[in-house]
This record gives sequence, C-alpha cells and structure tokens, in this order.
Amino acid sequence: GDFPIETDTLVIGAGPGGYVAAIRAAQLGQKVTVVEKGTLGGVCLNVGCIPSKALIAAGHRYETAKHSEDMGIKADNVTVDFSKVQEFKQGVVKKLTGGVAGLLKGNKVDVVYGEAYFVDNETVKVMDEKNSQTYKFKNVIIASGSRPIEIPAFKYSKRVLDSTGALNLQEIPKKLVVIGAGYIGTELGTAYANFGTEVTFIEAGDDILAGFEKQMSSLVVRNLKKKGNVEIFTKAMAKGVEESDTGVKVTFEVNGEEKSVEADYLLVTVGRRPNTDELGLEQVGVEMTDRGIIKIDKQCRTSVSNIYAIGDIVEGPPLAHKASYEGKIAAEAIAGEKVEIDYLAIPAVVFSEPELASVGYTEKQAKDEGFDVTASKFPFAANGRALSLNESDGFLKLVTRKEDGLVIGAQIAGPSASDMISELGLAIEAGMTAEDIAMTIHAHPTLGEITMEAAEVAIGSPIHIV
Ligand code: FAD
Repeated sequence: GDFPIETDTLVIGAGPGGYVAAIRAAQLGQKVTVVEKGTLGGVCLNVGCIPSKALIAAGHRYETAKHSEDMGIKADNVTVDFSKVQEFKQGVVKKLTGGVAGLLKGNKVDVVYGEAYFVDNETVKVMDEKNSQTYKFKNVIIASGSRPIEIPAFKYSKRVLDSTGALNLQEIPKKLVVIGAGYIGTELGTAYANFGTEVTFIEAGDDILAGFEKQMSSLVVRNLKKKGNVEIFTKAMAKGVEESDTGVKVTFEVNGEEKSVEADYLLVTVGRRPNTDELGLEQVGVEMTDRGIIKIDKQCRTSVSNIYAIGDIVEGPPLAHKASYEGKIAAEAIAGEKVEIDYLAIPAVVFSEPELASVGYTEKQAKDEGFDVTASKFPFAANGRALSLNESDGFLKLVTRKEDGLVIGAQIAGPSASDMISELGLAIEAGMTAEDIAMTIHAHPTLGEITMEAAEVAIGSPIHIV
C-alpha cells in the first residue's frame, strides 16, 4: 500500500458546499484537504447557477434590445453571434473557478484532484487515472453534489440533452422541447426563447414552477405566452422520443390525447439525484434514505460522528446558497463551535421573466402551521423606479404574524426579485416586524421602496396605494 497522507479535515467535492466548508475549516485553524474529481466550483460554477445566469442575461439583453419601442428606442437588425455568447459565458465561469483556486490557495487548503472512495471512517482512497493515494483524516465533510436524473425512455444523447448539454449548445436551435418546467427547465427554455428558438414545455404537474404560488408562476406563464414562440403543456405526460441525425420527435399525452412535436433538441430537466452511490459509503455505514439522501443532525453530522454531509446530498432544497451555508455550519461544528442549522430563511429564486423569489413562509404554509397571519401586497406598478425601468409587472407580498407584526415570510415576483429578497431574509433572520421595515428609510426612487410600502400596508398606513 501507499504511505497515507494525514490531514485534519478532508472535504470531498469542491462545489459551493465543499469549497466554502474547506475555506471556513482552514480559517478555524485546521489542516484541510479538498478532493475534487472534476473542476473547482462544482455544478454551480461550471454547469449550473453561473453559466445559466450568463446565458439568461444575454438572452434578456437581446430581447430587450429588440423590444424597447415603448421607450422610444427602435433597433433594427439586432443580431446574435452565439459563439460569442458562449465565449462570454465560459469567460465568466473561468474567472470564478480561477477565483476559487486562488481562495483555496490563499487559505492554505490542499487541493487534490481525483475521485475519493471510503475505505473506513478515517480513511479514503483518492484515485486518478494513474495513481491511488490514501488519506487519513480526523473528520470528513462529504459535499459530492448531485447529477441530473435520467429516465429510461429519454436516455441522454446527442439530441436528448441534460442541463449541461443545453448550456453548451453551439448554435441557437430552431426548435427545442423541454420536459419538466421546474426552475432549471423554465430558465433555460426562456433563455433560448429569447434567442428566437421555438420552445415547447411539457410539464406533468398542474403548473410550471411548482413550489411557487400560482399568482407568481402565472405571471411567468403570461410573459412566456406573450413572446409568441413558446407553447406550454401542463398536466402533460411525456411518452417517448424518436431521434434522428437532425432532430427529435417527442410524443406526449395531454387531456387523454396523444400529441407529438418535432424539434432540433429535447432538454430533459426532471430533477437531480444525489451523488452518494459511488463513494463507498457502505464501508462506513452512514445512514441514508431510500433515495440516497444522507441523514444529518443540526450540525450536518451523519450517523457516523466524524463524518459530515452538506449540500445537494442532504435533505432540503438543492440550492447553492444552502450548500454553502451548511458548509460553514459543518466546519464550525468540527471546530467545536456551538452552531445549528436553521433553514427558515433560505431564499429560493427563479431567474424567469419576471423573476420569482420567496423566503420564509408563504401565506398558505403559515396558515397550515397554525399561524394567524396577514398577507400584505404592493404592486411594482405603483413604484416610480419600476415604471421608469419600464418593468412594472409584479408584486411583493409580505407575510406577518397578526399578534406582533413579526415578518415570517415574503414572496416577490418582479424585476430584481432575486436581489430584493435578501432584505426580507435579513428581516426574518433578525426578528424584525413590519413596522421596523416601514420605518427604515429606503432611497427614492428604488425598487426597495416596494418592500417598505408592503410593510406600510401591513401596519395599515400605505402612502402610495389606497
Ligand atoms: P456540487 O456543486 O454538485 O459539487 C459537488 C462536487 O463534488 C463536484 O464538483 C463533483 O465533481 C465532486 N465530486 C463528486 N463525487 C466525488 C468524489 N467521489 N470524489 C471527488 N469529488 C467528487 N442553485 C442556486 O442556488 N441558484 C441557481 O441559480 C442555480 N441554478 C442552477 C442551474 C442549473 C442548470 C443547475 C444544474 C443547478 C443550479 N443550481 C442553482 C443548483 C446548484 O448548482 C447546486 O445546488 C449546487 O451546485 C450544490 O452544491 P454542492 O456543493 O452540494 O455540489
């Protein structure tokens, strides 16, 4: 056998969970080794959050460049060089993943490239093409992330794409079918629709973007339909796909009727599965659910006391900021700090048109939990900044507890909802009331005033609506 290398804390995976955990553990004085079998930054930076947002931003710019007639702007012959769009997107990815490398180095974290496999609960083997090296650790944080679910009738191929394939297309497809209109499918479908692709969504559920209130997702539906090149089938079951050299023919059933649609590509975004099946976890006996989700306690500790798990492989929404948050908790718990996870204020955001964002409870969730709540709404259309941006579609809804005005949730549909939601996360985290927000001076004219005004609605004294 090889001579083992010793470390205090070993981190498996360098996505937004793992690299953040590694940095925090190093900040707390531990000797840290992070093992990555792919690229630093994980799914999020390489084939997830970041490249998708670059593509969405480019598509949105193109669309608004063509359609700003309301503001007196008429632009003829606006064109896209899609290879430049791809270059821009990859440039952003490269800057950020390079940044992660620099941060790990700056914090003296050892980065090892290869695939980690458990030997026992204090040993992993790391293998690359040529070598195998053993590492001994006191504690390990597993942050191995997730991958797209593949359904047997829709095996991934040249024309049947997962999200990574859809992000990396080298030309703008004429037609694209998207099976599964959750946030990933909706975001990517919208991006291509903005570039001119005819997009057909096939969604099994009652609505696209399940998990968001219908009031919110219906704004997205209305906008997609307005584009003229998007068709949405809900309560529709995808049946199969025939693939040729040049395209696909997708069959599906809706209202008891069989239909088919032809396209250049099919994108399948029906969920993700945890990467917990190839780690040798059976060697250490970590408890998992039957879906392969690792069970953890409030400090991200698994059923084996020196093994921690974070990110997409544990319960909860598979989101980058949740992975990073858990990474910090796990590292601090290992360092002996008294920390606990508290998921109440995890925001969820969709970069759709308009953007959707939610944090804490929805009105319905609050009522289901037995809270006596008020929901206070304020429309973007009554805000000067939104109107002057010519983006006044949407609303902000504040959920407050009746007895004391405590803010326990908020939902936003509208431009910059993704940025605006942070203030409400802070309000929940800090235990603020609607009055606290209403009495905070918000700069004029800004979208932030919508938050202040919804809080004024909550305490019964809004200025700009009656
Ligand atoms: P990952 O990012 O999956 O990283 C895990 C890493 O572990 C990988 O680099 C992998 O190579 C490595 N690894 C796995 N097994 C081993 C092993 N045995 N040995 C060594 N290394 C290993 N989330 C958001 O919050 N906002 C968004 O806007 C958003 N957009 C998204 C868009 C798309 C198209 C997709 C696919 C996802 C998006 N997500 C978004 C989700 C987000 O990417 C994930 O929640 C996040 O990446 C999870 O982080 P993680 O650290 O748990 O795992």
